[in-house]
Amino acid sequence: MTTTEDTRTDEVTLVQHRIGGAVTSENPERAGDVYDPATGRVTKQVAFASPDTVDRAVAAAAGAYPAWRDMPLARRARTMFAFRELLQQHKEELARLITAEHGKVLSDAMGEVERGGEVVDFACGLPHLLKGEFSENVSTGVDTYSIRQPLGVVAGITPFNFPAMVPMWMFPIAIACGNAFILKPSEKAPSAPNMLVELFERAGLPAGVMNVVHGDKVAVDSLLLHKDVAAVSSVGSTPVARYIYEAASGAGKRVQALGGAKNHMVVMPDADMDATADAVVGSAYGSAGERCMAISAVVAVGPAGDALIDAVKPRIKALHVDAGTADGAEMGPLVTGAHRDKVVSFVDAGVSEGAELVLDGRDAAAGSDGFFLGPCLFDHVEPSMSIYQEEIFGPVLSVVRVETFDEAVELVNSNPYGNGTAIFTSSGAAARAFQREIQVGMVGINVPIPVPMAFYSFGGWKNSLFGDAHVHGMDGVRFYTRSKVVTSRWPAPPAGSQLGFPTN
Ligand code: NAD
Repeated sequence: MTTTEDTRTDEVTLVQHRIGGAVTSENPERAGDVYDPATGRVTKQVAFASPDTVDRAVAAAAGAYPAWRDMPLARRARTMFAFRELLQQHKEELARLITAEHGKVLSDAMGEVERGGEVVDFACGLPHLLKGEFSENVSTGVDTYSIRQPLGVVAGITPFNFPAMVPMWMFPIAIACGNAFILKPSEKAPSAPNMLVELFERAGLPAGVMNVVHGDKVAVDSLLLHKDVAAVSSVGSTPVARYIYEAASGAGKRVQALGGAKNHMVVMPDADMDATADAVVGSAYGSAGERCMAISAVVAVGPAGDALIDAVKPRIKALHVDAGTADGAEMGPLVTGAHRDKVVSFVDAGVSEGAELVLDGRDAAAGSDGFFLGPCLFDHVEPSMSIYQEEIFGPVLSVVRVETFDEAVELVNSNPYGNGTAIFTSSGAAARAFQREIQVGMVGINVPIPVPMAFYSFGGWKNSLFGDAHVHGMDGVRFYTRSKVVTSRWPAPPAGSQLGFPTN
């Protein structure tokens, strides 16, 4: 497979934009460093798009859009199927690119590509998904039908933590629906997104239907305000999501902006403690806690607290922290040194605020230049502490103890985030009350990370999502299309004009 990089120097390659079916070859005014988190070394640089570069990408998309929109559904679907096949064939290559820039272990990166690919599977059904409605004879000789039409050029802005999956939450559906797409991926992990477009084009996607511009706020702002961009999907931290929502909707665009999270797992005393402990460890420390659906707060009800701490401690101590490609590695490094230091500062704050640090992972980096931090476990965390209040986005789990189920629900519901949550219990009544009362968008019942399958929609409530539409599933189809209702009469109308309001 060819790469989408130009060599900038002998040692460091430059990841370029991909516009109109070709890798750009400009010498950018600004570029960012891309690290291998396992070694701490800069391995690549990534070009940062200027407003002019974004303009070129939008022009390429706008130029490709009419022919793509007009391509018959069956041919569009065949392109999606061909992309799906190439994705399967190149799964491991993509996963290796992700591990090299994000740091997550290879099996996790493979899982990410798989889950993103499920959205492509869903988008392969576009002829069915785009079917409208038809009502015959709504009035004498009159039929009404609804159709869904694409929006035009749409943009996606994505975070570092799922360099392939989160873009695939967006572009397969947007493009299947007939739009042209511009992706602005995270500057921390830019290579997998380039490879995705390259594969899509090899599958037959016409040049310009999908473009990638790399960069930072300059590129994002140019997209948010561009007159030819009709809609913006974004996933990132809450302050950035709020900003994108306000700026793009202020510019008259359709927007869905997914934000950060603080996901709680409520553990009832009647839960199967071994199964719960396995679930806690996987969901708190998988991908080093850099998942928007990671569990970062366990709410232990009554005697569940002591039992859970006893059960999780040995499991956490046994976790194998290592480079993502190392044999048997279960948890890799954090994405950058700056992020690792920020997470460590939260651990320091938790100690000084009086939480009990049961397991301390701060020494895991000793002797390595990689951005490692071992798993940290806090018990007796109070809701007023910063480790509870803030989204840490690292391998730091807080256990908050409450006396009753009602207190647990109250705690979750008073949190400003509402992305995911879970309850572990053997009581159907408790589970049912939880799913009815909890103010969170995605709920797991004895399932720790309840990420919906591609044919449902993904999205949180409150500060975890700005806008009305969740991503993928039917919300995705609705977001990337607008509905038109046509009322038609073919029989010859009665002679003469009628000035009265038509009735049936
Ligand atoms: P981030 O907010 O720093 O960046 C997200 C994107 O926005 C990137 O493409 C980045 O270049 C761009 N960006 C950053 N600062 C910007 C600014 N000031 N103006 C305009 N654009 C800007 O997020 P991140 O660190 O890459 O990813 C981690 C965050 O994403 C976490 O908060 C996590 O919870 C969240 N996330 C949420 C979901 C979800 O589904 N809700 C999924 C994955 C990640």
